[in-house]
Amino acid sequence: MQASVLPNGLIDRLRQIVGPSGLIDDPSLVAPFAEDRRGRFPGRAACVVRPASTAEVAGVVGVAAELGVSLVPQGGNTGLVSGSTPDASGREIVLSLARMNRVRAIDVGNGTITAEAGCILAEVQRAAAEADRLFPLSLAAEGSCTIGGNLSTNAGGTQVLRYGNARDLVLGLEVVLADGQVLDLLRGLRKDNTGYDLKQVFLGSEGTLGIITAAVLKLVPRPREVVTGWVAVPGPSAAVELLGRLQDSTGGQITTFEYVPRPCLEQLLRLIDGHRDPFTEPFPAYILVEATAGARGGLRAVIEHGLTQAVEAGLVLDATLAASENQARALWRMREDLPEAEKRAGAAVKHDVSVPVSSIPMFFERAERAVAASFPGARISAFGHIGDGNIHFNVLPPANGDAAGFLARWNDVNDVVEGVVMDLGGSFSAEHGIGRLRQRSLLRYKTAIEIELMASLKRTFDPKGILNPGRVVPPSS
Ligand SMILES: Cc1cc2nc3c(=O)[nH]c(=O)nc-3n(C[C@H](O)[C@H](O)[C@H](O)COP(=O)(O)OP(=O)(O)OC[C@H]3O[C@@H](n4cnc5c(N)ncnc54)[C@H](O)[C@@H]3O)c2cc1C
Repeated sequence: MQASVLPNGLIDRLRQIVGPSGLIDDPSLVAPFAEDRRGRFPGRAACVVRPASTAEVAGVVGVAAELGVSLVPQGGNTGLVSGSTPDASGREIVLSLARMNRVRAIDVGNGTITAEAGCILAEVQRAAAEADRLFPLSLAAEGSCTIGGNLSTNAGGTQVLRYGNARDLVLGLEVVLADGQVLDLLRGLRKDNTGYDLKQVFLGSEGTLGIITAAVLKLVPRPREVVTGWVAVPGPSAAVELLGRLQDSTGGQITTFEYVPRPCLEQLLRLIDGHRDPFTEPFPAYILVEATAGARGGLRAVIEHGLTQAVEAGLVLDATLAASENQARALWRMREDLPEAEKRAGAAVKHDVSVPVSSIPMFFERAERAVAASFPGARISAFGHIGDGNIHFNVLPPANGDAAGFLARWNDVNDVVEGVVMDLGGSFSAEHGIGRLRQRSLLRYKTAIEIELMASLKRTFDPKGILNPGRVVPPSS
């Protein structure tokens, strides 16, 4: 039924390229690939094509270009800005990279791993660990998200503080261009100043400029000493000061510094089994902190000393350091389960914003005040990567209030929160990207020259507009 809106013969040509198991056109099997995680853009896919090699991806894109059919690249479909699912026209094809899931090479001497786009992030981490190395990209969706999706969104996560975003972990890239040509930039070089660094164009471009098929990624030595703690703090201001002190005393060995206010912890304890409050009394907020060192010795003592001094300075109210890997895992799980607890608590207006770390306290103060003034009774669930200035500042309807009515004011809530962010020199989308969800903000806050340059990049790399059209760059640009 859906195939009827596609050019004649397209499905057969695609099937010839990817084989019978590489194409799904049964509507009931196609449907899950069209499910937008945030539920804001209901979609319908014409079919799902699942190439198993770069040559097959090139063949698929070549046919789509010839016939002018739009492709929506998809990895794990864990993206949070409605960029990886088709629109409602039923004419877009999902290009799933899931079958391209081979680790092609590990070069320990060069500190690199070459992985295909469909590799699940956790599998790449595991392959690196087997070679006694660390691939440091880490996020709560790592059991489902893929390297292609991570690089296309320039994913952040919980270790940006120490190792940077996904972009910082890429040395080489293999990309299928919008006309089906393969651009081979798959080099494992740390120094290569030979003109424009073309791979950067594709990183964070959310599938709108090319299809990433493989990447050479950086590995780092595995930490030999890991100190994980759960620290009670009075609020964001103390948290930021504590971060500075711990970075100073450890010489920059803080890897993770995540903020969890008390209401978020209470929500987690109420809605998800298997967690317990590490302290016997409640505190206003908590930090999940992790520090790592390449060699064993001293780090735990340095952290303990730093926390003791911070207690004396009134920055820390209580603290516990994990005594075993199991205890550390339990602390990590509390942080990782926060998004699921929030989901179970009901719909919320989401923000993924960042400000300079030094402006975090002012951001909390101003954003909370602005929300209270404009939406009396609205509840705030603001947690996340405070160590790199990134907060998931989500706003929930008033308890027992009109949830649907509140959610209908999604844009108004965005304007209030993002207004504070932009005044502080921040970003309205710190790590999730633009997709379709954040296009309104992009038009509102980017300058005309930025938008025109983005649109001209799109025209250059995808003149027929077949790669994820209408995502990132607004259709009218
Ligand atoms: C519980 C949870 C926690 C999360 N935590 C974080 C976090 O801490 N930090 C963070 O940054 N994100 C986070 N995310 C968002 C999400 O996991 C990331 O954006 C992730 O990088 C997406 O990977 P994916 O494989 O699922 O990509 P998808 O969702 O499938 O796609 C994302 C975008 O990339 C494009 N794309 C996918 N594969 C390719 C490819 N091979 N070539 C070209 N384009 C492609 C898609 O078209 C889409 O625009 C979280 C999500 C969830 C559900």
